[in-house]
Amino acid sequence: MRNGWNRTSRTSFGKRFPKSTVAVKATRQLLLDWYRVNRRDLPWRRIRDPYAVWISEAMLQQTRVETVIPYWERFLARFPDIPSLAAAEPDAVLGAWSGLGYYSRARNLHRAAKVVAAQHGGRLPDTAEGLRELPGIGRYTAGAVASIAFDRPEPVVDGNVARVLARLHGIREDTGRPAVAARLWEHAEELVRGPRPGDLNQALMELGALVCTPRAPRCPACPLRRRCAAHRAGDAESLPVRKRKAAPRSVQAVAALIVRRGRVLAVRRAPRGVLGGLWELPGGELAPRERPEAGLRRTLRERTGLAIAGAERRGEVRHLFTHRNLLLHVFRCDTPKGRVRLVDFDAHRWLAPTALAELPQAALTRKALSLALFSPAQ
Ligand code: SF4
Repeated sequence: MRNGWNRTSRTSFGKRFPKSTVAVKATRQLLLDWYRVNRRDLPWRRIRDPYAVWISEAMLQQTRVETVIPYWERFLARFPDIPSLAAAEPDAVLGAWSGLGYYSRARNLHRAAKVVAAQHGGRLPDTAEGLRELPGIGRYTAGAVASIAFDRPEPVVDGNVARVLARLHGIREDTGRPAVAARLWEHAEELVRGPRPGDLNQALMELGALVCTPRAPRCPACPLRRRCAAHRAGDAESLPVRKRKAAPRSVQAVAALIVRRGRVLAVRRAPRGVLGGLWELPGGELAPRERPEAGLRRTLRERTGLAIAGAERRGEVRHLFTHRNLLLHVFRCDTPKGRVRLVDFDAHRWLAPTALAELPQAALTRKALSLALFSPAQ
C-alpha cells in the first residue's frame, strides 16, 4: 500500500485526511473501471517519462487534445529531455510552440527547465510541493505531474473535473468563488486518495471530456449516474454555475510590412504578456476614433522611430483573445525614413520575407503576413 490509501493519507502539502468512506471508494472504483475501458490512446499515455507528461500538461491547458498531439510530438522530437530544453535558444522554444497560443506557457517551461537542469540534476522534482517551486507550475500542473508521473495522491481540478464534481455533488453556487473552488478541490482530494492516483485523475478529466460534457452530458453512458446529484435532479446542463464573464473588449490595431531594399522589418516583443518573445510586423493599437492610416504613421514613429510617406492597405484580420476582440488593419509600406529605435519591442531584423515566416510568431502574425505579401492593394 504504497500511499497508505486505506489508512490516513497525506498529500505532499502535509494535509491529513481521514480514511475514505465506502461511498468514495465505490465512486473511485467506478471511475477507474470506466477509464480502463474508455481511455483514449494518447501518445503521452504510452510512456511514463515525467518530462513528457509535464510537456503534455502544459500544452493541454486551454487547448484541445487534437490540437496538442502534433505539437507535443514535434516538441519532444526537438527537445527530448530537460537538458536539451534548458540549453535551447528562446526563439527555438517559442518556434516549437508557434501557433499553440498562450505563449507564457512556453516561456515558463523554458525557465523551469533551466532551474531543473541547474538545481535538480536535470530530474523533475517528484512531489507536488517540489514541482510548485518551479516557474509557471501551479496547483493543477503540479497535481497532474505528481499523480500521473510519480503516483502521488495529489488532486487536480481543471474545467473538466470541476464540471464533473459540481454535477456529481450538486454544487449550485458559482464555482468561480474561492470558497466553492476550495470545495471542489476537497472533493478531488478525497477521491484521489487510493491506488492509481494518476489514473483516477485522468479518469475524471476523461469523463468530463467525453461524457460529462458542458452541453448535453451523456448521463445514460456515465458510470456515476446512480450517484450523481445533478442527474437525479435533472439539472446537469445548468451546472456548473459560472458568473457570466464580461464581453471581450473590442480593439483595433495596425501592422505593416515595411520593405527596404528588398528586405522586410520584423520586430520582437519583450518577453512578457500574452505574445511576449514572439516576432511580428511592427505597428500598434489605435487610439479611440483614430483612423488606421494615421494610427499607422503614429505607432511606427513612436515604436520603431521610422517615418513613412504612404501605405497600401492590404486587408484586415480578426482575432479573438481571452479578453480582447481584435481587428487588425494590415498595410504595406516601402522605403521608410529614419533609423530603427525600438520602444516596447526588444529586437529587430531586416530579413527576406521567407525568412520572416520562419521566425516564431503567433497565428495572428502569420495571417497578417500572408495578407501583406499576397493580397492586392485595396
Ligand atoms: Fe455528468 Fe451525467 Fe455523469 Fe452526472 S450522470 S457526472 S451529469 S454525465
